Amino acid sequence: MKTALVLGAGGFIGSHLVKRLKREGFWVRGVDLKFPAFSETEADDFVVGDLREQSMVTGVIDRGFDEVYQLAADMGGAGYIFTGEHDADIMHNSATINLNVADRAMKRNIKRVFYSSSACMYPAYNQEDPDNPNCAESSAYPAAPDSEYGWEKLFSERLFLAYNRNYGMTNRVARYHNIFGPEGTWQGGKEKAPAAVCRKVAMATDGGEIEIWGDGNQTRSFLFIDECLEGTIRLTRSGFEGPVNIGSDEMVTINQLVDYVSDIAGKKLHKNHITGPTGVRGRNSDNHLIEEKLGWRPSQSLKAGLESTYAWIERQVHANYDRVA
Ligand code: NAD
Repeated sequence: MKTALVLGAGGFIGSHLVKRLKREGFWVRGVDLKFPAFSETEADDFVVGDLREQSMVTGVIDRGFDEVYQLAADMGGAGYIFTGEHDADIMHNSATINLNVADRAMKRNIKRVFYSSSACMYPAYNQEDPDNPNCAESSAYPAAPDSEYGWEKLFSERLFLAYNRNYGMTNRVARYHNIFGPEGTWQGGKEKAPAAVCRKVAMATDGGEIEIWGDGNQTRSFLFIDECLEGTIRLTRSGFEGPVNIGSDEMVTINQLVDYVSDIAGKKLHKNHITGPTGVRGRNSDNHLIEEKLGWRPSQSLKAGLESTYAWIERQVHANYDRVA
């Protein structure tokens, strides 16, 4: 039986990845500070532990896993990453995890670790035009990410690739672009735009108002979780080390995102633009390299993913707030 280790298995992408690997017949160990928030883990072995601690990392990487996925990070949406209040924690916590994991994997003779970097590592100067952002993999340097979260990602992707060069490893690096779907964080400050918009729309009454950070003309693309997992697994098992974008190239403005979700909900809402952290003006995945190297690119429409995500968040809103009302 093949074995896999998923670090960050209590998080959004990690918990879905565990389910996917179980469907493929793997024996899976998951590790996280916490169990998944919205459903029982399907991991065969789930270790609650802190990957900043070397002894914990030594303990959980105790055998030659067939596949290792390093997704654990101190992470959140714009309200967490762009305010500056969490910069030291974000850098320290995530870098420590990655330093521990890369080194232990090498010492345990594991050849290949998948590492999830982020589109946040791309230079801010290429993302000022909302209609024409440049996020081709080759545009990464000279580096100028707009957040410390992005700088840490850049450091850690270089770390995993340095282990390839110096220790004969074959680590894989992907740059995720805004992954969304059911069972993602939808409230509390760490949620991302699609979940936040779905929550706000679900809570609004028809004809009411929805608050949007900034003027809503900032552009983004959003990738549904199933396609993220498909790209992750394809890259991990491929002959290409990356870094490569795993994202959608269906770019929309945040105002359009709100319109899509309002349509799905069957509500007409007035947009109230307020001051808030917004990040770069434009961002879109460039999918030329993934298509060239893997012969595959994400293809599902944004609307299709939003439908199932909205339905799930609407149920959470009712379950949480109807009780209180
Ligand atoms: P998430 O926050 O849901 O999952 C990360 C998990 O890591 C959490 O469950 C958290 O508890 C765990 N973790 C944090 N510190 C830990 C520690 N010290 N020890 C053990 N576990 C720890 O985030 P996600 O959306 O599932 O993202 C997974 C990875 O993908 C992250 O590395 C993230 O930076 C990257 N990424 C995600 C997106 C996205 O849109 N979701 C975009 C770009 C990159």
